[in-house]
Amino acid sequence: MSAEAFNPYRMAQQQFDAIAEQLGLDEALRALLRAPAREYHFNIPIRMDDGRVRIFRGFRIQHNAARGPCKGGVRFHPQETADTVRALSMWMTWKTAVVDIPLGGAQGGVICDPHDLSLREQEALCRGWVRGLVGNLGPDRDVPAPDVMTSSQHMLWMLDEYEVLTGGHAPGFITGKPIGLGGSLGRMESTGYGVIYTVREALRELGLRIDECRASVQGFGNVAQHAIELFQSYGGTVISVSSWDQKEQTAFTFRKQDGVDLKQLRSITNSYGEINREKALDAGYEVLPGEEWIEQEVDVLLPAALENQINRDTVKGIKKCVRIIAEGANGPTTPAADAVIREKNIWLIPDFLANAGGATCSYFEQVQSNMNYYWTKDEVIAKLDTKMTDAYFAASRMAHRRDISLRDAAYLIAVARVAEACAMRGWV
Ligand code: NAD
Repeated sequence: MSAEAFNPYRMAQQQFDAIAEQLGLDEALRALLRAPAREYHFNIPIRMDDGRVRIFRGFRIQHNAARGPCKGGVRFHPQETADTVRALSMWMTWKTAVVDIPLGGAQGGVICDPHDLSLREQEALCRGWVRGLVGNLGPDRDVPAPDVMTSSQHMLWMLDEYEVLTGGHAPGFITGKPIGLGGSLGRMESTGYGVIYTVREALRELGLRIDECRASVQGFGNVAQHAIELFQSYGGTVISVSSWDQKEQTAFTFRKQDGVDLKQLRSITNSYGEINREKALDAGYEVLPGEEWIEQEVDVLLPAALENQINRDTVKGIKKCVRIIAEGANGPTTPAADAVIREKNIWLIPDFLANAGGATCSYFEQVQSNMNYYWTKDEVIAKLDTKMTDAYFAASRMAHRRDISLRDAAYLIAVARVAEACAMRGWV
């Protein structure tokens, strides 16, 4: 699959077909699960600040709700496509199943670039997205959450619009809300921390000490920053991070061989996770081309930016010393690269397991919102650690027992759970 031909939906279906074959699923179940159950594609007209009206394209795609209400993020991205949303909706179904939370899978998005939109225009977009879908969302139908380039502020605008339209309070309608307004403590940290809980256990299995390990990270947004925070708190060293440069329209890698200073990097990073290149140079970072994050001499690689980053071409740059790849991002590795990684004997922790911490904590947030009773941060983080560690070991045990990849093992567990729920409901 070349970079140009990359299609995440085709990749998600390819991964599913292989697992369906291994599980011996019948034709009806395969047809049911290899495509989303429902899709909404709609126009969102927005009056822009200059008085013109612009039409944006919005999506919500619900893949499966056999195990509970649909759950999934909403992305604002200029390159958003229906197929990206379809793939992400499918991966959400496997993600909620692999960590065994009672939710299904969905994903949403709007084709737009928030860099070019004022806050008022972004608010109008959030409200328009909810108006386009209101009858098809809700705490017991489909629960949105933040994703790339959407934040707790966007979630609160969406919640407010939903409550205006339906009447009353419904904080369980959406997750990723601000703390004090229905948000859960620990939600911000949850995806990045979850990635590192799986890395911690994987390193232990490999007999490696985390405080002697070095990592290179792609991305410096929500997932990456919190993953780095926990990895460093365990004594690990992160030597490089990469991020997008909006002005140059390319990515850069920022390296410090004795370890990046998270606090300092955060102070020179904007709200989109873009590190200021000039300030990084002043702070003594080496600035390398964006793709070089993958070519570092490290034990752990952490792709935490976008899909299709480890592909047939880039996989060649991975150094022999790399032992673990933990997919913080969704879909960063193509099937062709997956095969090479397995040949190289690198232990890859797949996206829908590694980054399931966000979905798990979203579930905790929804539970708290529905109860209108909120837990302490320590309670949330402890529950998250337990869920992620249990899910990791279930997949890892199966992978070792059957001598298969961790991705295949996690898929086998997740798809079997969803298939069983569909069958027990009498859908097939
Ligand atoms: P974000 O928008 O906060 O950060 C994205 C980061 O990627 C930014 O630092 C940006 O500069 C960087 N980036 C963009 N293009 C790049 C490129 N070509 N090279 C290098 N860096 C680049 O997003 P996020 O919430 O951290 O999400 C990152 C990934 O994790 C996405 O794939 C998302 O779907 C996935 N994910 C996020 C969550 C969550 O809770 N936020 C949960 C599960 C999965």
